Amino acid sequence: MSRLIVVSNRVAVPKAGQIMAGGLAVAVNSLFEDRPGLWLGWSGDIAQTAGGFRFEERGNTQFGLLDLTQQDIDQYYNGFSNRVLWPFLHYRADLAEFDRPEMEGYLRVNRHFAENISALLEPDDVLWVHDYHLIPLAKYLRARGHKNRIGFFLHIPLPPVDVLSALPDHREIIGALAQYDLVGFQTASDRNNFAGYLQSMDATMSEDGESFEIGGRCVRIGAFPISIETETFKRYAQQAATSRLIGEMRKSMDNQSLLIGVERLDYTKGLLERIDAFDYFLAANPEWHGRSTYLQITPKSRSSVPEYQDMDHQLSRRIGEINGRFGGVAWTPLRYVNRSYTRPSLAGLYRLARVGLVTPLRDGMNLVAKEFVAAQDPADPGVLVLSRFAGASAELGEGALLVNPFDRDAMATAIAQALEMPLAERQARLAAMLPIVEANDIYHWADLFLTELSKPLADTRSFRRQSTIDSFRRIALRRPAPLSRDNPVNQGS
Ligand code: UDP
Repeated sequence: MSRLIVVSNRVAVPKAGQIMAGGLAVAVNSLFEDRPGLWLGWSGDIAQTAGGFRFEERGNTQFGLLDLTQQDIDQYYNGFSNRVLWPFLHYRADLAEFDRPEMEGYLRVNRHFAENISALLEPDDVLWVHDYHLIPLAKYLRARGHKNRIGFFLHIPLPPVDVLSALPDHREIIGALAQYDLVGFQTASDRNNFAGYLQSMDATMSEDGESFEIGGRCVRIGAFPISIETETFKRYAQQAATSRLIGEMRKSMDNQSLLIGVERLDYTKGLLERIDAFDYFLAANPEWHGRSTYLQITPKSRSSVPEYQDMDHQLSRRIGEINGRFGGVAWTPLRYVNRSYTRPSLAGLYRLARVGLVTPLRDGMNLVAKEFVAAQDPADPGVLVLSRFAGASAELGEGALLVNPFDRDAMATAIAQALEMPLAERQARLAAMLPIVEANDIYHWADLFLTELSKPLADTRSFRRQSTIDSFRRIALRRPAPLSRDNPVNQGS
């Protein structure tokens, strides 16, 4: 069997005896049980000069780690990836701070990765590249003559062509995705945005609308919604009932209903808007004072970026105002915690909660939404209040209370509705969501992507150029089909 090489920005090698960090790490490790493989990426260390790979082995997984220089980190990671691509791809071009030397640094680090990977590559190796830090990697590998099967998965959203075209030099960055054989997105809507982008570059489309020919190459595109280790999460949630943390939390709640929010401090997560909505909820529903508590768990992230520092200050101020205005000696409406919790602890807290608040302004998927669903007790489940701009809403929209995170009044109403929802409706809503998270877990997701990546490429002789309107009509009219191994791409939009 051909070797699988996974490439991602950061590779965290678990310390001896430590369990895998979760999510992608667990899925990659499971892939390597069935085939030889290698996981390559930045070590997280900073060196005087950017070096080559050094290798380490843990269980089934062989890691190849590359050190980067301080300038690389400043330009490639903190600069172009986090201050330009992150806001742009989350529809926040207004927050992007484009700087051409930083873009050059981004391209240089991608070339450096390509040079080092090139030296390792066997002709039948299959590569799976992850996320926005490494978009141009295939382009540089192709330039070195590698014809290997290479797939790419974008973990964050992809906006429509109008937003993408505002990114300076977008053809060099976004256009470089066409150098992959398969490009996977979180949702059909992201996938369709990329189809629109390719057509704006005069690509021709296959009859089935799944492949595009551009610059003499064929690229296939599809939606592969990422997921979680569902069974593990269910088990954590059941076991947590007896843990000390959950015991203490339950005691401190004194029979109040718990609302929970869990996310990194990030402007995409809609935290300020949600805190405002909670303020509106408290103002409009005095009967819930003293009967509900909102726990917001928010580990800080990217603290060196000014937008994140501003948000941190604004959030702390708003939370202080709300607690000062509505709280009393025996009741604090909002508990705000800046530390990070382990997944077993989070699973227990989700299960204790009557309401999960997941209201990002824009999110590729949002795994917390799926974790909240997996952690619920089917006999007495909580309610998920979910932003319609989270990728997870495409799968969980049937059972969640969908909200527009920009509409604070409507969110306040949804919070009250969730708290008051009768048991039968809570159960029915969970029953609409849980089987989806059970059927499409992280292992299934990885399997679908790799199965698709191994399929033969389409015959470009049948491709034809269509007007954008024609092709969009075709994509929009296609009937939604359930996600399955036979049909991993193009779920309904
Ligand atoms: N998470 C965690 N501890 C925390 C807060 C979050 O382990 O204290 C995990 C959470 O369980 C989830 C992930 O971080 O698996 C966040 O993923 P998500 O897709 O929701 O957001 P991202 O941070 O990737 O934008």
